[in-house]
Amino acid sequence: MICGENAAEQLIRWFRVNRRFMPWREDPTPYHIWVSEIMLQQTRVDTVMPYYYSFIGRLPDVKALAECPEDELSKLWEGLGYYSRVRNMKKAAEKMVLEYGGELPETYEELLKLPGIGSYTAGAISSIAFHRKKPVVDGNVLRVLSRLNGLYDDIGLPETKKKFEAELEKFLSEQSFDPSLFNQGLMELGALVCVPNGEPHCTECPWQDECRAYLTGKTDEIPVKAPKKARRTEEWTVFILHDEKRRMAVVKRPDTGLLSGMYGLPAIPGYLLPDEAVDLLGTYGLQAAEIERLPDGKHIFTHVEWRMRAYRVDVSSDAINCSAVFGTDRLFFADREEIEMKYALPSAFKKWNFWNQKIGL
Ligand code: SF4
Repeated sequence: MICGENAAEQLIRWFRVNRRFMPWREDPTPYHIWVSEIMLQQTRVDTVMPYYYSFIGRLPDVKALAECPEDELSKLWEGLGYYSRVRNMKKAAEKMVLEYGGELPETYEELLKLPGIGSYTAGAISSIAFHRKKPVVDGNVLRVLSRLNGLYDDIGLPETKKKFEAELEKFLSEQSFDPSLFNQGLMELGALVCVPNGEPHCTECPWQDECRAYLTGKTDEIPVKAPKKARRTEEWTVFILHDEKRRMAVVKRPDTGLLSGMYGLPAIPGYLLPDEAVDLLGTYGLQAAEIERLPDGKHIFTHVEWRMRAYRVDVSSDAINCSAVFGTDRLFFADREEIEMKYALPSAFKKWNFWNQKIGL
């Protein structure tokens, strides 16, 4: 058994007293829960909060999201990362407008058919917003329940998640309490008490009298998680190109691969020496007037680490062809205001101050 009835009731009581304020909790419509859960993937509550307010303020419902231009959507998401999440949200919203009258579908099974919605998000929406007896299993929940039950299953494996989901669903289907409170309580306990890093705060936990890991002194062994494969590293040369009008070159990245479809800085694989960089730019009709090496940058994605050598180059506007193609990317120049207002640049490219450098035309 993954959780007993008493433990569930203790958890719900604890949650009622200890729940943190979150705007989507105060008004848990299906749309609010969906937006917040997608934002919260890989991102902390404190970080999400201002994004949530501006997103809901600008896009208060499914229809508004479906109709929002992609560039504006990326701007609303700028800094949250994992941009495919918001692109999938737009696709899902378009589908909801066409097939569900602009509302989120109520059942777990229909939610699962929408782009970007997996078992976790479908479980969260159907249990929290629609009060359906569906489980919500993420890393926090796997950790808490592994400790409660003294389980040594590897929580990094998909089959472990499936097993927990099946057992929790069976358990929830037999209970009369609100699955919304239980699921939120489980997530909150994982975030505040049975924490992912460092010692769990067992003396503050509603389950301290029955938690197998705590009672047997095994909280440092459970949960079990096999080490992740090492990240691949990639080397890039990144260009901050300015023209005489102090505009900066921006590219629209290819439609596939990392940061696909996003705006970014011109970049090519491998490290170039300054001479090689100048020659390369020349082949694209960008004549370098001055080149300056900037501090190296690094950005860590889930599976890849980018190590970036950066050059700031002042290029002659005579040679600028705004439809120039940089590698497979489309390149154009935009001024500071346009870039700040219109083009969301992923944080991978925000390692350098674009506008206050030593050299300048
Ligand atoms: Fe986690 Fe400790 Fe609570 Fe067990 S008693 S669930 S280890 S915080």
